[in-house]
Amino acid sequence: MKLITRKQWKARSPRSASSHLASARGVKVHYTGSRVDPRTADDHDRCYALVRQIQNGHMDGNGWADIGYSFLCCPHRFVFEGRGLHKLPAANGPGLNSGHYAVLGMVGDSGLVVPNDEMLHGIRDAIEHVRANGRAGTEIKGHRDGYATSCPGERLYAWVKAGAPRPKTSAPKPPPAPPKPVSKPLSLVLDLATRGTLTIPPGTRVSVPWAVENADPSGQHAANSPSWRPKTPDWHLVTLSAIVTGHKKGERLKLVIGEYEPTGSTRRKDHFGEDKIGHGTKVEHTVSGLVWLGKDHGYRADLINHGSESVTLTSARLHVAR
Ligand SMILES: [Zn+2]
Ligand SMILES: [Zn+2]
Repeated sequence: MKLITRKQWKARSPRSASSHLASARGVKVHYTGSRVDPRTADDHDRCYALVRQIQNGHMDGNGWADIGYSFLCCPHRFVFEGRGLHKLPAANGPGLNSGHYAVLGMVGDSGLVVPNDEMLHGIRDAIEHVRANGRAGTEIKGHRDGYATSCPGERLYAWVKAGAPRPKTSAPKPPPAPPKPVSKPLSLVLDLATRGTLTIPPGTRVSVPWAVENADPSGQHAANSPSWRPKTPDWHLVTLSAIVTGHKKGERLKLVIGEYEPTGSTRRKDHFGEDKIGHGTKVEHTVSGLVWLGKDHGYRADLINHGSESVTLTSARLHVAR
């Protein structure tokens, strides 16, 4: 369970200690009963704000000693600790609190009204948590069971009536599969080389400045640019070879393929790379990897000197093949 403790969400101290709850028959599920900003689904910071707002409402509006719920579940599968385990909740209604822990799903009567799979998993996580650690029985009810209220709303109540099942979450989408080697003949789309030498001071990252186009039939590389931009999004076999001198024995030089903004030198992320260990002599380092190259991205071959002295790149070659 992805628990967010009271300390982590900066809960106010209760005005007085809640009564001890030795055990309960189970759980009652709640919703907020008011509007939940739909942007909450995309912004976990708003979940923290909402929990604090609910605590303020319960303490300052309702005059309760503390937030009324035992646990509060957000659309990102986080479970915020409300009163927590073995504390009498306040949200179920007078005379009804000792029977059940009170678990809130962060949906309301407008705005965000449909609990997503992550939230349902979170509520389920909280239910299993109070069963395992809070001596809760197996009952799962809605607030409206035994109390005149619309809570927990139609969607959550239907789920409760169905036994609060875990959603059959579809597995995260796998990245597009690499093509089978036989599906497409390997074709060289880019063959770039450097001219002259390039010094890489210790602790710096430099992009190899491609000056020579040995092959660039589809125009993926603008003259004298360190970046190339694929014309067709596809898996590409990228091979970078760099001949360096001054690479001291035992020191690390990283060869990496980085993804940049299509124009400019803002780096987005690295795709693959490898640390090479120096031998003190002139040596050729090579890295090779299959990369999904997307359109509207710039790609560069970079060298990062993790050593204590400058390394000199005397020549480099880049092959990109589909
Ligand atoms: Zn309720
Ligand atoms: Zn959240």
